Amino acid sequence: MPELPDVEIFKRYIESTSLHKRIIGVHILSRDMVKGASVSEIKKLLDGERFETTARHGKNLFIQTGGQSWIMLHFGMTGFVKYFKNEDERPAHVRLLIDFSNGFYLAYDCQRKFGMISLTESPERFAREKKLGLDALDPALDFEQFEKILSKTNSTIKTVLMNQNFLAGLGNVYSDEILYQAGIRPARKSGELDREEKKQIFFKMGHVLRKAIEARADPERFPSSFLTPYRSAGKPCPKCEGSIEKKKIGGRTSYFCPRCQG
Ligand SMILES: [Zn+2]
Repeated sequence: MPELPDVEIFKRYIESTSLHKRIIGVHILSRDMVKGASVSEIKKLLDGERFETTARHGKNLFIQTGGQSWIMLHFGMTGFVKYFKNEDERPAHVRLLIDFSNGFYLAYDCQRKFGMISLTESPERFAREKKLGLDALDPALDFEQFEKILSKTNSTIKTVLMNQNFLAGLGNVYSDEILYQAGIRPARKSGELDREEKKQIFFKMGHVLRKAIEARADPERFPSSFLTPYRSAGKPCPKCEGSIEKKKIGGRTSYFCPRCQG
């Protein structure tokens, strides 16, 4: 499931492939994925225009044309984007297809349809309306604010990190990775963590997200101390070689090392 690093990579991919090219066709192939806007509004916004700017807030990607609105893409469980020329490169579950005048296409593919296509006046407005917390990599997010976020609730720390209303961008995989790097079990209650533990989580959050982006969100390129490539019960912990365990926390399957995480 695409989380902050994955969506950041999609954003950079769109920047390197799809900006400043004239749009000559807009095809919405799954109307049920359009929310909070109409198909004709989206077509009207994009047709004949060029993508000029991109933005990201949490797991939400925004692309602006010269017009007033931004198109918003959410990737759900299975979404991604692909820029291609030949029909045989076209992905299998295209929900939105943009034709450019240079003969290339940009496809938004979302097999399981948990994603969303929408419009907004601005990424800030979208975040406000959806009550999203600060982006987990927002430079304005400092430790004091992070501590305040944790003090709002006494849920398990994993659930807190994944709550998009507290902090936007983390899902199941990266919340596990951050807690693994911080040496803290995902089932710990946020209210029971001491200041040093909260600091560890905060600093490891930035570290893990930046490293994942550097690795183009590809677990095969992650540092050798990362848990993500070993997300499977019984696999060896990359730090102590003990067995990785799995447990359902807040309805999500979580992986952790009982020896390295206290
Ligand atoms: Zn371990």
